[in-house]
Amino acid sequence: MKHLSIRSKITLWFAAALVIVVSLTYVCILSVSNQVLQKTIKDNLIETVENNMDEVEYYESMDAITEPNDVDYFIRYGDAFLEIDDDFLDSVNQVYTALYNSDLFMLYGENPVAKQCASLSLQNMTIQTVKAYGVRYYVFDRELTGEGLEGLWLRGVVSEKQGKEDLSTITMLSMVIMPVIVAVAIYGGSLIAKRTLEPIQKISETVEHISRGNDLKKRIELDKGDDELHLLAEQFNSMFARLDDSFEKEKRFTSDVSHELRTPMSVIMAQCEYSMDENSSLDEYAESIQSIYSQGQKMTVLINQMLDIARLEMRPENYPKERVDLSALTDSICKDMALIKEKGIAISSHIDAGLFISGNPGLLARAISNLISNAYHYGKDNGHIDVFLKKVEEQVVLTVSDDGIGIAEENIPKIFDRFYREDSSRTQNGTGLGLSITKEIVQFHGGTIEVKSLLGIGSTFTVIFPSERGNAL
Ligand code: ADP
Repeated sequence: MKHLSIRSKITLWFAAALVIVVSLTYVCILSVSNQVLQKTIKDNLIETVENNMDEVEYYESMDAITEPNDVDYFIRYGDAFLEIDDDFLDSVNQVYTALYNSDLFMLYGENPVAKQCASLSLQNMTIQTVKAYGVRYYVFDRELTGEGLEGLWLRGVVSEKQGKEDLSTITMLSMVIMPVIVAVAIYGGSLIAKRTLEPIQKISETVEHISRGNDLKKRIELDKGDDELHLLAEQFNSMFARLDDSFEKEKRFTSDVSHELRTPMSVIMAQCEYSMDENSSLDEYAESIQSIYSQGQKMTVLINQMLDIARLEMRPENYPKERVDLSALTDSICKDMALIKEKGIAISSHIDAGLFISGNPGLLARAISNLISNAYHYGKDNGHIDVFLKKVEEQVVLTVSDDGIGIAEENIPKIFDRFYREDSSRTQNGTGLGLSITKEIVQFHGGTIEVKSLLGIGSTFTVIFPSERGNAL
């Protein structure tokens, strides 16, 4: 069965099982019906002979017959007479009955196998068998009782094949019908197997296409259905989508990283070349080293942030979660950051006490500080920052608002992308990774982050965390 397709295997097994079951059923039905038939034949024989017993009467002389009936039959029996009633059935439905004396001499009736029966002794109320013309016959003897009938016997015979003609017609018919039924069932089964297994074919074709052409955009396309194979195809499709998504991200990340590192690297290279010029003055050397140092610092920040993102994505187990008092954590960050006093910006916090979530305190502190430090960076001179923390329904909601430069509407969807920086903020010393790290951290805690912003008016970042279950929040 090595080279057989699943469809052929299923059909073969199905066909074999069907043939076995049908044949067994057929054999059982035949043997049971044969047994029933034999019993019916014997019962019939006994009943006919028993009925005939009342139809024989003894008369000492013809004068004793009070109501003579010309259809009855009379035979001489020694000095007396025997009257055989016209109801005596010597041949009915292939059951034959004959009247015998104890010497097995037939006095009346019919027996088609009389010769073969002659060797069978008379045995009252017993069914014996005799073979004649290659067929078995049942023989049933009954000794007559009643006055004058002593020593007289009725012998009934019937062939075991009685009524078998009907059975053999049924057998013949079923011999024709059975293979037809089996053939139809196999054909139907094979069609169903083909239809059921079609999705597997498509799944394997798509997987092969993807692995051959590295085209993760391809999806398994099946007709509507909700069986296991459709579910499998759906799971495959969502796996391809996830793989495609992460490959795309990976590609973008690698190209962004090389792009971001290229600028500081070329500045460093240029400064080095410039410093290697023997005619440079001490001041010029100092200036070059200062520039190299600041580019190096920028690269360090960038590399550290990239490592943080990779670590959070690859090894989330490095950031165990615990019960965190988000109120206390946010309050202390606000207090610390109030010390910055950058651009004369004032920060005010409105924090409801005792709001707990399940999370990693280090990561949460990082996300909150990122939002607040952005509010400082992109805030206006003497502006305001408002930090709110409250419980809304079963969630803990953190908002950080500023009245700073705001974000252009068309750029809002991009600001959580890695390395994205608005043109207006290029002058700032950022890497464009802060918000994407913040978003990763929020998602790591099962939360969401969104922003509302108006250019020139200010921005509000809203983070929603699911509250810690079972805690008095
Ligand atoms: P970075 O601040 O290092 O540039 P971020 O990922 O933190 O990177 O932010 C991405 C961009 O989103 C910023 O360059 C800036 O243009 C915009 N942005 C973030 N926060 C604010 C804010 N509070 N107000 C205005 N623009 C903001």
